[in-house]
Amino acid sequence: MKTRTRFAPSPTGFMHIGNLRTAIFEYLVAKHDGGDFILRIEDTDQERKVEGAIDFIYNTLNLCHMDISEGPNNAGEVGPYIQSERLDIYKKYAEELVKMGKAYYCFCTEETLEEMRAIADKKKKPFMYDGRCSHLTQEEIDEKIKNGEKYVIRQKMPKEGVSVVHDVVYGDVRVENSVLEDQILLKSDGYPTYNFANVIDDHLMHITHVIRGNEYLAQTPKYNLLYEAFGWEAPTYIHVPMVLGSDGNKLSKRNGDASFMDLYNEGYLPEAIVNYLVLLGWSPAENREVYTMDELIKAFDMNRISKSPASYDIKKLRWFNAKYIKNLDDEKYLEFIKPFFTKDVTDKSSEWVDNLLITYKDHLSYGKEINDLVDIFFNDTINISEENKAFLESDPVIPEVIKTYREELDKLPSWDINSIASVIDIVKEKCNVKGKLLYMPIRIKISGVEHGPELPNEIYLIGKEKVLDRLK
Ligand code: GLU
Repeated sequence: MKTRTRFAPSPTGFMHIGNLRTAIFEYLVAKHDGGDFILRIEDTDQERKVEGAIDFIYNTLNLCHMDISEGPNNAGEVGPYIQSERLDIYKKYAEELVKMGKAYYCFCTEETLEEMRAIADKKKKPFMYDGRCSHLTQEEIDEKIKNGEKYVIRQKMPKEGVSVVHDVVYGDVRVENSVLEDQILLKSDGYPTYNFANVIDDHLMHITHVIRGNEYLAQTPKYNLLYEAFGWEAPTYIHVPMVLGSDGNKLSKRNGDASFMDLYNEGYLPEAIVNYLVLLGWSPAENREVYTMDELIKAFDMNRISKSPASYDIKKLRWFNAKYIKNLDDEKYLEFIKPFFTKDVTDKSSEWVDNLLITYKDHLSYGKEINDLVDIFFNDTINISEENKAFLESDPVIPEVIKTYREELDKLPSWDINSIASVIDIVKEKCNVKGKLLYMPIRIKISGVEHGPELPNEIYLIGKEKVLDRLK
């Protein structure tokens, strides 16, 4: 059987990195076996629906180089791929279960359920629907329908025994059947519950591996009972641990946690994001961190997904991103960085700008950061920290180094990187200093900080006049 996985987001127009991480796992499980990766839109909660959300999902997966084999915009043979367009399908299967005696119409009103809830509350017991409508006779049912009473369809759960499902990550999950409520499959408005729709869709779409967040794990025995009721083969279940924020809480839009698009708009490369995310909860067999998508497809082994929750760590993501930026060739890099670069460069040549941007390629951890990094080229004054000021006064040779360096620079017949580079050796000879005492004073005087790109490049780009001024 061909491996088929599906990504089943709600169309909220927002993809936080936890969802994207799940999609990546789904994609990799499918592609590792040469299988299909399906996009299904779970829009049965119509309130959360956002205009344009489907294109947004395509766009996001596209940017991450995850090809969708079938989905709403490229339908295959098992569509529709949007749940709200499948209502007649859910109805048909729910009715079938009723006919088989494995589900029943429930006419209980919201008020009746409220009363039952209140009684359970009083007894300090968890509320569970008592199944009273499963005892209605056919005449009673017909009568109620004739009277226009609204109903839902509930699944009849076994009252005894244990249900067990096997999960690739979590092993066997067992539940006492006595705690399983007769769950609603179809609501009175004709919409299915997630619990029902996911089973029907996964079966009809020939999904072989269901990969989803572990918040669904405890419910999975219920879904399995549905497969059994229909006599269908259940898929392989792979529940994945949550991605937590650095504060240990669940990631959420409300907490302002990063979404893929936020990161993308800040200048994180999709390749770096994917590489970082795949390692949240999965570890390769070899001791290695940097992977292209093709390499991930080869290396991915679902048996190496971990049970423990993973923490999102922006510092680690920056580390990956910096690595990926460094690996871009100059042309690709300039294409990437220019949209983020917002300094006023009307009085600069385009060579100067390209040179400046390239100088910082190895120092950048995300696109927007470029503007902070190049501040020293645009400000008239620079800030030197107290600590660095103290360093400048820490040795009597330092003022001499700075003075000599300034004189030698001033003497240069031409302002180019090679000539500038030669000055440092002259100063080294003349002042008889090397290492930190030689470089640091100059760096601090011209940029305010102790780190930066290659000194001659930096000096060249700042320009002779400004540099001489700063060295005064
Ligand atoms: N729509 C569900 C979600 O976004 C999908 C769960 C699943 O993959 O089955 O959480």
